[in-house]
Amino acid sequence: MIRLADVTFRYEDMEMYFDAVFTAASFTAIIGPSGGGKSTLLNLIAGFEVPQSGRVLIGTQDVTALPPDQRPVNMIFQDNNVFGHLDVWTNVALGISPRLALSAEDRERIDTALADVGLVSFKQRKPDELSGGERQRVAVARALVRDRPVLLLDEPFAALGPALRRDMLDLVTAMQKARRLTVVMVSHQPEDAQYAASHTAYLEAGRIVALRPTAELFAATDIPGLAAYLGDWRSIGQ
Ligand code: ADP
Ligand code: MG
Repeated sequence: MIRLADVTFRYEDMEMYFDAVFTAASFTAIIGPSGGGKSTLLNLIAGFEVPQSGRVLIGTQDVTALPPDQRPVNMIFQDNNVFGHLDVWTNVALGISPRLALSAEDRERIDTALADVGLVSFKQRKPDELSGGERQRVAVARALVRDRPVLLLDEPFAALGPALRRDMLDLVTAMQKARRLTVVMVSHQPEDAQYAASHTAYLEAGRIVALRPTAELFAATDIPGLAAYLGDWRSIGQ
């Protein structure tokens, strides 16, 4: 479980307030207009931003004062997840040990993770010899070896085409189910939320306006701003 309890956070002209629970082992998509605070919400959970007031809890642990590397969290961004000068295998290995102090068992875990994401034959390649989708698979493999109970994804597959996005969502969903991860994923594609997420939150102007089971949220007519955000999308064959 992830809990934001009375969290406030402000940038100069923007005041955000989050009070929400993401149930353990659920997969929540976050949708909403650009600039609404979706990335900030993930950064507060990951520890890249610290609330001005309120608390962040993961499970029973208050992590509000913990730096990102001490939180039980993996985060995957839209890009810049990998080090360009290091090969695929080493990029994944860094998820276990920043100094690359690896046991035989660690090496096996890295190979297994690379197999799970279909990158075994790419392990000696550098990131610039990979496609965008393959680079994101490296980030997923690193999350696999780090094995933290919370996985945050910030528009991770936005640069990929629809078929590849589905493959990547399948990969994340399989990982979520196998390890009972609590996943929170920001997405600009409502269909990604519908495809993968058990719950969806609509976030606007620094507030979570609604957080509901995905089908309910998309069918709802009582959520301010949602219809305008979705526009024609909802009426076109969904
Ligand atoms: P989203 O991910 O929903 O597009 P963000 O969380 O990135 O929204 O941003 C929310 C608001 O905070 C925006 O108004 C943005 O301009 C502002 N903001 C984000 N990061 C910073 C920053 N580092 N410094 C100042 N303002 C920021
Ligand atoms: Mg963002």
